[in-house]
Amino acid sequence: MNVHAGYSITHNSNRCKTCLECVAICPFNAITVSDGKWEYNQDICAGCGLCVEHCPNNALELIIDESKPKPLDIAQLL
Ligand code: SF4
Ligand code: SF4
Repeated sequence: MNVHAGYSITHNSNRCKTCLECVAICPFNAITVSDGKWEYNQDICAGCGLCVEHCPNNALELIIDESKPKPLDIAQLL
């Protein structure tokens, strides 16, 4: 079972060059490109942020997703 980190991503289609870097790096196959169209499955995205870090065009952004469990605040747990 995957544990969601409480994050999702947003996609800026104006910046996206459909280079497929995010498709290749996503461990959960949450991003696909079909017929040149970028698509994202929010439900299976674990909010890991890898795609955001690897997008060469700054087309992706990590956002807190209110529909997912809140991100853990590690500092509060210590
Ligand atoms: S890595 Fe960025 S530019 Fe490339 S397909 Fe994904 S969102 Fe688009
Ligand atoms: S944040 Fe992680 S799980 Fe979500 S789409 Fe990006 S790489 Fe995939």
